[in-house]
Amino acid sequence: MKLGDYSGQIVVATHNAGKLREMRLLLQPYGKDCVSAGELGLPEPEETGTTFEENALIKARAAATEANLPALADDSGLCVNALGGRPGVFTADWAERQKFEGEKGRDWYMAMGKVEGMLAAIGPDVDRTCWFNSTLALAWPNGEVAIYQGRVNGHLIWPPRGSKGFGYDPVFVPNGHLMTFGEIDWEEKKLVDHRADAFRKLVEAEF
Ligand code: IMP
Repeated sequence: MKLGDYSGQIVVATHNAGKLREMRLLLQPYGKDCVSAGELGLPEPEETGTTFEENALIKARAAATEANLPALADDSGLCVNALGGRPGVFTADWAERQKFEGEKGRDWYMAMGKVEGMLAAIGPDVDRTCWFNSTLALAWPNGEVAIYQGRVNGHLIWPPRGSKGFGYDPVFVPNGHLMTFGEIDWEEKKLVDHRADAFRKLVEAEF
């Protein structure tokens, strides 16, 4: 089944407000009615995969099964060339206070500082290039799935700048821009970011 031929509700399988806002706005022009996994009160499945694809499928399949509706999930992360692609699938984990300080909640400043500390330890001429990955998984209640992959290349700056985005946005400068994703308006970010790239591929195939 293709999304373009479907007129019912779609679950956006996320509990992340930033991602939900982006995915809702991306789907809006296609007249799709979205509800989030958070709004439906669905449990957040454990992301036990070791690749973006595995984790996106875990989230999309869980929501599609629980809600009995098609579900779209994004698994995304920051991949830093000098760190061999890390934090990658562990991007959100690097912000978990519990892992480092025994407290609950996520601290993005700490996560950005961890990446910066690792780059600084390599040396002043370290390669600061990186990319954001977005893997979109679309799962249907009958078990059908489709995967779309997107990315945006850029480099890391320090200290962080801007408060418009979320996660690692304040340290990420996309190629061809001078401002960070934390300083760029969302209207502009959505034209160039990794989710938009993956979404373009989804639209080409599904509509
Ligand atoms: P996950 O896909 O839920 O595992 O989370 C990936 C993490 O990557 C998010 O919690 C964000 O911190 C980070 N991330 C993904 N996309 C973006 C983005 O567009 N800007 C900033 N950080 C992002």
